Amino acid sequence: MPEQPSHVHGTPARVFADRHIGPNPAETEEMLKTVGHSSTTELMAAAVPESILTGPGRQAPLDLPEPAGEAEALTELRGLAARNQVTTSLIGRGYYGTHVPPVILRNILENPAWYTAYTPYQPEISQGRLEALLNFQTAVSDLTGLPVTGASLLDESTAAAEAMTLARRATKVKSDVFVVDSDVFPQTLQVLRTRAEPLGIEVVVADLSKGLPDGEAFGVLVQYPTSSGEVRDPSEIIAAAHERGALAVVAADILALTLLRSPGDLGADIAVGSTQRFGVPLGFGGPHAGYMSVGEKLRRQLPGRLVGVSVDNTGRPAYRLALQTREQHIRREKATSNICTAQVLLAVMAGMYAVHHGPEGLRAIARQVHTHTVALADALTDRGFEVVHEAFFDTLRVRVPSSAQILDAALERGYNLLAADDRTVGISIDETTTAADLEQVVAAFGEADRAAAKAAPTVDGNADRVPGALARGVDYLTHPVFNTHRSETALLRYMRRLADRDLALDRTMIPLGSCTMKLNSTTEMEPITWPEFGSLHPFAPLDQAGGSVQIVRDLEDWLAEVTGYDAVSLQPNAGSQGELAGLLAIRGYHRSRNQAHRDVCLIPSSAHGTNAASAVMAGMRVSVVACDDGGNVDLDDLAAKTAKHADDLAAIMVTYPSTHGVFEGTITEVCRMVHEAGGQVYIDGANFNALLGWAKPGEFGADVSHLNLHKTFCIPHGGGGPGVGPVAVRSHLAGFLPNHPGQPDAGPHTGVGPVSGAPFGSAGILPISWAYVRMMGEEGLRSATEVAVLSANYLAKRLEPYFPVLYTGADGLVAHECIIDLRPLQKATGISNEDVSKRLMDYGFHAPTMSFPVNGTLMVEPTESEDLAELERFVQAMIEIRHEIDKVASGEWEREDNPLVNAPHTAEMLTAESWEHGYSRAEAAYPLPSLRQDKYWPPVGRIDQAYGDRNLVCSCPPPEAFEI
Ligand SMILES: *Cc1c(COP(=O)(O)O)cnc(C)c1O
Repeated sequence: MPEQPSHVHGTPARVFADRHIGPNPAETEEMLKTVGHSSTTELMAAAVPESILTGPGRQAPLDLPEPAGEAEALTELRGLAARNQVTTSLIGRGYYGTHVPPVILRNILENPAWYTAYTPYQPEISQGRLEALLNFQTAVSDLTGLPVTGASLLDESTAAAEAMTLARRATKVKSDVFVVDSDVFPQTLQVLRTRAEPLGIEVVVADLSKGLPDGEAFGVLVQYPTSSGEVRDPSEIIAAAHERGALAVVAADILALTLLRSPGDLGADIAVGSTQRFGVPLGFGGPHAGYMSVGEKLRRQLPGRLVGVSVDNTGRPAYRLALQTREQHIRREKATSNICTAQVLLAVMAGMYAVHHGPEGLRAIARQVHTHTVALADALTDRGFEVVHEAFFDTLRVRVPSSAQILDAALERGYNLLAADDRTVGISIDETTTAADLEQVVAAFGEADRAAAKAAPTVDGNADRVPGALARGVDYLTHPVFNTHRSETALLRYMRRLADRDLALDRTMIPLGSCTMKLNSTTEMEPITWPEFGSLHPFAPLDQAGGSVQIVRDLEDWLAEVTGYDAVSLQPNAGSQGELAGLLAIRGYHRSRNQAHRDVCLIPSSAHGTNAASAVMAGMRVSVVACDDGGNVDLDDLAAKTAKHADDLAAIMVTYPSTHGVFEGTITEVCRMVHEAGGQVYIDGANFNALLGWAKPGEFGADVSHLNLHKTFCIPHGGGGPGVGPVAVRSHLAGFLPNHPGQPDAGPHTGVGPVSGAPFGSAGILPISWAYVRMMGEEGLRSATEVAVLSANYLAKRLEPYFPVLYTGADGLVAHECIIDLRPLQKATGISNEDVSKRLMDYGFHAPTMSFPVNGTLMVEPTESEDLAELERFVQAMIEIRHEIDKVASGEWEREDNPLVNAPHTAEMLTAESWEHGYSRAEAAYPLPSLRQDKYWPPVGRIDQAYGDRNLVCSCPPPEAFEI
């Protein structure tokens, strides 16, 4: 048999790159003909400005290992996994063992229908994950006793930081003081400090068991139960805070809340925490869903995404994202936070865990955890040890002669305990702890008092060390969804029913500009649920994490190599957090040179909303730079702004290639102008998929970038998270990267502090990007870039006769995405970009990015992973839609009644007794013949966005709401 041609020169056919890249070489040829170039290299040389290439017309060399095949990469990953030591971690501090219900593991975490979905901006095709998120919000709100819960935050520590800034916005108190109890998780305290410093917030740490210290404060935070495990009634502190006009934040353990009175009940204004122990693997620190719940009064202040209930055009309840006007993509520097990508997949898992167990199940798990903890406490007391707290839930502090000795003895038996200090050991019990585990732990302690009685730990099902005044009844999860799917069959079908309502990458291309919805290959995904990677505690001794640390180090090296930077931190757990980390590095750099007054951040008007929001969080003032008619940074305006801010310029944040999908020829000029004015250059690397292997921002003039591993490097979007947003810097900024108090190896000792709760951020999903780079190698990665740019240009050329392409660069070429302009058609016919987006659902497509970065447009990014047939399926749909718009223009269809304004069409609408439209049912449902064979049916009609914001409902509506 003849060898198949391959994208990757000199390697056998069927290498991974050929699986990852959609168009085969013959299709590539055909696409090149349409675009009018002879080869992908020639196309790139024409599109990419000479000034950013490594040499005249030269690609960027990538010093990476020779690519591995899929089997080989998995073997290597097995080897790395084997270098992790799987022990039982009873370390606690916000991270606990949990049984991931296998039915959820396989059917959600390992199921592309869930993990390849996008953020539910197009709600009609996202009803499944929106319902799952509403379950999450409802479960958390029930347990926290606060009615408004967002659809996840990035982790507990950043949620606490978001609560701090929320409290500051929401109080009238003129103080800059935020009081934090001394008994909170250390990583939370440190993240609070990192985030407080640039904002001029003073974090005051105090032992709140002795009451609130004197003085003004805008907010107070307590941990419940405390970090050391004590169950302490926070209501007095909350009342004292309220007396002074401060808001009270309670960081609460979600499982403990099934037994303890809720923060809302105790008077708290805000509750934050992690839902990791609701069935999400530890993963060496993440990803997990953080949560925040607030009272009604604060709902417009909530950071991050909120799912709400609205109605569709037939009046039926339908879900969608609520109160979006709070968010960065609309409010920019005035947003309630910079959060964009959150932790949706993990929130879906945690919500399903609550659906799976129901209120009694969760309570039984919590009771077992508690009675095991009591048994352990009693056994240790019996042996003459002092257990520090009388009231506890799952965590003990035990006084010992030497912590190190006990930790060693425990490790010999396969357990990690916590050395709270030299003479205090911490133990946290979880759902997975068995009676045999308790015996082993007790044995590790030996005996302090030889004369004492020494029974084996005995579990008493009625034992209780929760103060009576704090005990709670089962007043949660009363909604039927938490009480009906008790059999696995029922749950399996529920999850399948939800998944079927959504359009994810497993059914169609998702041509979302700026989001890079490319293949998330199965080989890349497989390792993340291996126990060696999944069950590592983030604060386990590093010598137990040899494989995971190697993955971190390899990725740091590879990402530095491909970006041209000198140092990389993988700690930020989303692009937005990478931005913050990068800006904090710039801030640290200026301060180290006695230039602390440099605090102005220039941001082009076309920038992603996170940029402006992150700049504000880094203590900077935003100054907007105009774009010219070609969509490029306006150099005259830039000159004016750099002159105006010559003394206080901190940085510019530009996206490259630009958010307009163009390789701006002037980028090196922009870098030079900003440097001359004393500023640093931040290149937002979200669009790195257009550059990889061709140009390196660290070499063409930038000082710092973040990357989105959930875009360019194949981590799936998970329906809106998880993500990883590494920050990469040149050497002069390296000393200002994030570090971590619990892990000296996680960053430079001179660093700016942690930006995530876990030392290596969302380390659990790094094997995905590791595998991608490992299997693609230099040529594969470069080919992917070339084909991504080719595909975008192919679409631009194919669509141009029907829809004008708004911006192009050199030679009329675009980068890896293109903006098509619907405004002229809208003016002529009233048909908007939204109508086109909704109509695409009838054709079985997820819409492109709508109205970003330009209102009234659609931004299309096909990525390298879509083959020619799929690109053409999209082109045919768009051409047919153009014909439909023409029928509106000609008057054949009425402006108020046509398949575009009425889209999407549900099966119910189409099978109704009466049909009173000026177009046929077949024209509505099957505008292209191929749809008769393969049809996605949107589950709801067009959703009324405004109705949902006027009538905010953000927990599960009662079943009667759905009655017809
Ligand atoms: C996606 C994106 C971001 C934000 O990244 P998140 O991971 O969603 O926080 C920032 N800038 C640009 C240009 C992006 O496309």
